[in-house]
Amino acid sequence: MDIITSFQELALQPKLQRAIEEMGFETPTEIQAQAIPLIRNGADVIGRSQTGTGKTMAFAIPAVEKIDTGHERHSVQVLIMCPTRELALQCSEEIKRLTKYSGGIHPVEVYGGAAMDRQIARLKRANIVIGTPGRIMDHMRRRTLRLDNVKLVVLDEADEMLSMGFKEDMETILRETPSDRQTVLFSATMPPSIMAITEEFQTNPQLVQINKKQVTVDNIVQHYVDVPMGRKTDALKLMLHYYKPSLAMIFCNTKKMVDELSEDLRKSGFNAEALHGDLKQSQRSTVMDKFRYGSTNILVATDVAARGIDVNDVEIVFNYDIPQNNEYYVHRIGRTGRIGKKGTSITVCSGRKQVIAMKEIARTLKSTVTEIDVPTNADIHSRINEANAQTVENALHGEIGQQYINMVNTLLENGHSLFDIAAAALQMHFSEDETNISDIVKERKQYKGSDGKFSKIVLDIGRASRVAPNHLVASITERSMLHGSDIGKIEIYDDYSVVAVPSNSADEVIDMMYGAKVCGKPVKIRLYEEKQNRSARRAGSSKNSHAPKNLPRNINKKAVSKKTSPHPRHSKRQG
Ligand code: ADP
Ligand code: MG
Repeated sequence: MDIITSFQELALQPKLQRAIEEMGFETPTEIQAQAIPLIRNGADVIGRSQTGTGKTMAFAIPAVEKIDTGHERHSVQVLIMCPTRELALQCSEEIKRLTKYSGGIHPVEVYGGAAMDRQIARLKRANIVIGTPGRIMDHMRRRTLRLDNVKLVVLDEADEMLSMGFKEDMETILRETPSDRQTVLFSATMPPSIMAITEEFQTNPQLVQINKKQVTVDNIVQHYVDVPMGRKTDALKLMLHYYKPSLAMIFCNTKKMVDELSEDLRKSGFNAEALHGDLKQSQRSTVMDKFRYGSTNILVATDVAARGIDVNDVEIVFNYDIPQNNEYYVHRIGRTGRIGKKGTSITVCSGRKQVIAMKEIARTLKSTVTEIDVPTNADIHSRINEANAQTVENALHGEIGQQYINMVNTLLENGHSLFDIAAAALQMHFSEDETNISDIVKERKQYKGSDGKFSKIVLDIGRASRVAPNHLVASITERSMLHGSDIGKIEIYDDYSVVAVPSNSADEVIDMMYGAKVCGKPVKIRLYEEKQNRSARRAGSSKNSHAPKNLPRNINKKAVSKKTSPHPRHSKRQG
């Protein structure tokens, strides 16, 4: 099968093509390119790809094409099962957009918590039903939904439906549909329970598996802050005060943390809501509606709860906890910077280990993450003042009501200066809430300034591995707290290198370098043992010793760092 790279190649009906263009989709995603032709051909399909890869359209397009609009009796021809009301709504909205120009397609969504009467009335003309298994069962029992003309069943987020306990409902529903129906299943994971469903309800299923995620993090500016563990929440609040995001998502690793943090943020006056797996479906829907329609601008969520929920236009994604793996990181930050927009992500790290983990994630994604400082109260005030001054500026360009002019006149007559009146008015209008959070100022240790003493560390990689001074500097500065200018003399031998680092940092550097790589090779690092070295030399043997087997190539340190640090002892030895 040829690989499809444009929607034109799929030769959609012009009315669908037009709708797709209006939705701004130019090329099909991988899962769409692969699954659409198969589903069109009538195959049972198992589609496996991550959230955000466009699975809805992958089944919605062929599903809509299969609807026979000439059918005299309105009967349900396509049945789509989704795990939550949220996802059912999303799916039906996507189908409505897709069929904007197609007459005769009547998608109806059914889910719990919505008025039965209206659903029943709408079901009378439905030819596509999108619903949660529970509510679909309800309608089947009431005989308000008949499935005997169903040609295609779609199980969307099948693994999620199973984990929500819909297994029996799903099976009952599938058994109620004609046995020659086509069955398509989408799932992000393939646990054995899914395989069991597949075996029982699919015929010769074709597997479409997209391994890597097609999202790009290129248009997301990725930052991190490094704050003490006990001040993570403060850091987050300071950032929220400063950036004032119109929509933000905050990710935590545990449900408990999600609850605590959202509660804490609410107490501090933020419009924050929690979203996690323990919430009842109705609660989840309420939270999502609030977020989507603007009464909540901060959503605190776990990775799992946020899965499958399509929220666009998030201005900043905060990782309150550093994510457990790269995939989660991509999912999280992918909530911002969607399709053609710039986004921002800020990860809260505490301590060097987490910073290293953060950089490691960025490195495997081939992107960069830069450190920023947590805004101080002064930063927040000046930003607010700027915005307020702009507001006043704007008002000055507009009309000012007579009653206010009269007020100013009265105050002037009472002997106040224009200056004082203006300042008092501004204060009243713009009175700010103090954050009550003390600044988080990062103290940067001054190693080089400490006492000028250097210690040497040995890395078991050398000229034989084509290592150059800049490789060593890059690796050390990346993982440790040292800057390039802190590093002293570098000597490279055949199979090891010696680097001078400020004495008071040596142990820490060795710790941080645990597991590091130089030139792609894992290296071992230890302290240089001067004494051992000398005696070995004296004995004239280089076997089993750390002594140089050849004379050091003297590296001009200007190439690697700005400061030179004389190392008399060493040069003596060399001479
Ligand atoms: P999934 O079900 O895999 O999580 P969705 O179907 O919810 O993914 O799609 C994620 C987002 O990508 C939605 O906002 C959707 O409108 C958008 N999208 C889908 N297909 C395309 C496409 N071909 N090009 C651009 N955006 C797309
Ligand atoms: Mg989906």
